[in-house]
Amino acid sequence: MQTVVTAKLKLNTTPEQFKALRTTQLAYRDSLNYVSQYAFEHGKMSNAVRLQDATYEEIRLRFHLPSQMACSVPRQVGASYKTLWTKVKNNAVHRKEGKTKKRYKGLDKAPTFISPTLTYQYKKDYTFKKEQQVSILTLEGRVIVPYTGYNKHVALIQRGAEIGASKLWYDKPKKQFYLLVSLAIETADPTPETHKQVAGVDVGMRYLAVTATMQGDCTFHSGKQIVPKANHYARLRKRLQKKGTRSATRRLVAISGRERRLKQNTNHVVSKRIVLQHPQSLIGLEHLTDIRERTKRRKGKNAKQRKANRTFSKWSFAELHSMIAYKALLHRSMAIKVDANYTSQACPKCGHTCKENRPNKGLLFVCQNCQYTLHADLVGARNIAMRTLLLRQDWRGTGLLSVRAFCVGR
Ligand SMILES: [Zn+2]
Repeated sequence: MQTVVTAKLKLNTTPEQFKALRTTQLAYRDSLNYVSQYAFEHGKMSNAVRLQDATYEEIRLRFHLPSQMACSVPRQVGASYKTLWTKVKNNAVHRKEGKTKKRYKGLDKAPTFISPTLTYQYKKDYTFKKEQQVSILTLEGRVIVPYTGYNKHVALIQRGAEIGASKLWYDKPKKQFYLLVSLAIETADPTPETHKQVAGVDVGMRYLAVTATMQGDCTFHSGKQIVPKANHYARLRKRLQKKGTRSATRRLVAISGRERRLKQNTNHVVSKRIVLQHPQSLIGLEHLTDIRERTKRRKGKNAKQRKANRTFSKWSFAELHSMIAYKALLHRSMAIKVDANYTSQACPKCGHTCKENRPNKGLLFVCQNCQYTLHADLVGARNIAMRTLLLRQDWRGTGLLSVRAFCVGR
């Protein structure tokens, strides 16, 4: 089985190298916008070959891009226009069918490229050198930069994982360049024998994650310190949005970034803990469609309900899931999706499912059939673990895993 992971490498640049990379990045973005304008003025053209014929000389002359890079520009612009054209056509169909009244405006003017993130092709625009150094193409030729990164990723690069394209990403607040390298690693095909343990992970707002195994072990990953902080940012963001002045907008960008990074960081920490706790396991995650239902806010006029309707920061459980799935593979585990229906209402002991199993929606789960009693937040994780176990038994019996492994994004 082949898995693609992304290694984030910190580039330790000298001031000259830093300048060279930044100039290259900005020149690349400017040429994207130049070609985009050209495409727009010529019938919103999406044909990459024709775009290249028409703009290549100008890109070289005006923006001084090396030839390899100059070829990537029309290709990228062409692809963007193709995507936008598809959206325009789909929108036309939807309007005809009366599904929507809104007209898609994505091609009303030339699309602008804002992010200066630049894609490098392996062996053409960048290569790895000895002693943790990487050679990267810039407008002034190649620069050789030392890098640091997560040990596991560095080892993979040095041991010759299959290296793909990379992205040069600039962290503006920190004035720091990173190279995001995609690595394809070969992992043994998973079998029931390589994944002997099962674990269930339940996510939610009170506890970001609760895990349970069939041996009765459980862990609560609380969001106690983090969630209120994220909510604070969300409220601040809402106020600034209303204000709408220029300085408010500037602060808004900073706050949104802080909120996002806080959540991302927490998801990293929680997912890492979970994965380290469950090596060589089949980790069950629930389908996320049900979560929205569970965290839906109540409508109402009294104080308690208004309190429940305060501005909340939407937690990205999808991100948490994909981080677990991604890290699981690096620790010889695998995440799978499990049916999430009634995971919080079903009795883990006898299977009896009803709302009344959770009297007054309190902290205790009391089965109305067999009186089995358990911490309510644990019931979901326990049930997910059990559903994961059933899938594993089925896998052992038939040799087929009847669910698709959790898709790893990025
Ligand atoms: Zn029961």
